[in-house]
Amino acid sequence: MSDLVLDGATVVTMDADRSEYAAAHVVVTDGRIAAVAPGPATQDVRRTADRVLDATGCLLTPGLVNTHQHLYQWVTRGHAVDSTLFQWLTTLYPVWAGIDEETVRASAAAALGWLARTGCTTTTDHHYVFPRRAGDLLAAEVSAAAEVGLRFHPTRGSMDLGASQGGLPPDSVVEDLDDVLTATEDAITRFHDPTPGAMVRVAVAPCSPFSVTAKLMTEAAELARRHGVRLHTHLAETTDEEHFCRERFGASPTDYVESLGWLGDDVWMAHAVHLSDADVARFAATGTGVAHCPSSNARLGAGIARVPELRAAGVAVGLGVDGAASNEAGSLLEEVRHAALFARARSGPDALTVRNALELATLGGAQVLGRADEIGSVEPGKLADLALWRMDTLPHAGIADPVAALVLGSPPPLQLLVVGGRTVVERDRLVTVDEERLARDAESAARTLLRRAG
Ligand SMILES: [Zn+2]
Repeated sequence: MSDLVLDGATVVTMDADRSEYAAAHVVVTDGRIAAVAPGPATQDVRRTADRVLDATGCLLTPGLVNTHQHLYQWVTRGHAVDSTLFQWLTTLYPVWAGIDEETVRASAAAALGWLARTGCTTTTDHHYVFPRRAGDLLAAEVSAAAEVGLRFHPTRGSMDLGASQGGLPPDSVVEDLDDVLTATEDAITRFHDPTPGAMVRVAVAPCSPFSVTAKLMTEAAELARRHGVRLHTHLAETTDEEHFCRERFGASPTDYVESLGWLGDDVWMAHAVHLSDADVARFAATGTGVAHCPSSNARLGAGIARVPELRAAGVAVGLGVDGAASNEAGSLLEEVRHAALFARARSGPDALTVRNALELATLGGAQVLGRADEIGSVEPGKLADLALWRMDTLPHAGIADPVAALVLGSPPPLQLLVVGGRTVVERDRLVTVDEERLARDAESAARTLLRRAG
């Protein structure tokens, strides 16, 4: 007996052969995919299923995987909108200094809800602002993700290089190194679930070369490897960062972090925009992954990552929306379109196919998070994390290639989003939480933070 049968959709599996079926069925049992094959499900399977959905006119893809995000920024959108990264950061640090459990929970729930509405089934978060007496911020995010129903990879971020020590952030938002390590280990102990099918996995994520000391980078990597969890940070986002590293460390960002033990197949980097050929080769040789964030990079005028070169070298590349304060849209499907368009704008029409762009958001993201055995494709045995897009309405009806419609066309209605077999979105509405409440709470949290910042 199965939980759900989807019948009649075009299916893009992202399996090893990149199989696509024009009118197929998918069967979900106990939160996993039990079958995917061309043609309709048998009468027997249909009769004994809890739910059979006629998916004719729809495109079924693996649920999208978001590999870089700062959920707390959802309620600080719309500031410093025409600024560089460093100008934008120094405008926002004082606002972020006012966050607490309640504002972070409201921000995370709204951002997660919108990610789900845009096809995301698994998301990371990189939280690195922990003001004193702000409460249990990571727990607030974990509970928001459980409420919305997304598979969640929160990272325990940190900053310990304040302005008085030559860093970019004000001293009011940085932490003491020992406190960071204690809190990070605590986060792993409390929330990390290494078992198959886990809904929560934790990673360790000092913020960036210009806000973290070398000692914290080194000790954080040792801590993560002791616990068998992954490592994440920002790298090579802007030319300002490149100048900072050359001036302070006498090295490029990649050489600097490699000297600290920060390249490896358990590491993924956000952005990786400014990489030399040698850097790309180092990423490939070490198995280091990349979270490509095209909208954020364009919003801050940071540049366009060398995605075709990274892929050609064999680097795992996923997509990220980045924090909502540098990508007000926070839509994961939009990143797929931007990845395709920006790669072609930079390197020509054959730089990235529409299918390769969709691969970044699905299998690529799963590889970056070390979970390609469980998510990122529609295959028997994998977790039932699925997005069903409606392609027979005004914006898409009659389009020759549904994958091109999804990647290059307008965002289609999301007919159904399931995570581990559980319905999270149906007909463009969250069914796990009250959308209006999420919006009201986000508005109230945004007002609170502005009032606290004066
Ligand atoms: Zn970021």
